[in-house]
Amino acid sequence: MRLKSDLAKFAGKPWLGKNEEWPKCPYCQNPLEFFFQLNLNQLPESLQNKFGSGILQMFYCTYTNVYGDEVCEIDYEGCEAFSDIHFLRIIQPETEAQDVEIPEIEDISPPKLIVDWEQLEDYPDFEEAKKIGIKLAFDEYYLYPDKYPIQ
Ligand SMILES: [Zn+2]
Repeated sequence: MRLKSDLAKFAGKPWLGKNEEWPKCPYCQNPLEFFFQLNLNQLPESLQNKFGSGILQMFYCTYTNVYGDEVCEIDYEGCEAFSDIHFLRIIQPETEAQDVEIPEIEDISPPKLIVDWEQLEDYPDFEEAKKIGIKLAFDEYYLYPDKYPIQ
């Protein structure tokens, strides 16, 4: 299914309203890295209306200190779903977006438009599997990346 707009993307410029500031981390005060936004009205048919309507956006603090430590990710359990260093929201854009300037963030991901959908099987990683009670043999952990490589 092809998307009709460029509102679905990874990285790049998020939709921000006029006079809206780029979201900042509540802890280190650095700009959050924009990860993605999806137009919920243009999801694949099987997901239509499952999450509401509008634009879903996700930002995350990737700040690293001079030693290369991901400070907020470590101190505020950034790997947990919905940790305080995630910023998720659904917006209903009714005006033009501002032509926002992307803040300087080290190793920021290059922008990519989401232009198509493909259904894939996904499995929890080591830590997630353990948390939800899935027990895998030692060698099974290493089969997953081979069977389902991340592209
Ligand atoms: Zn931070």
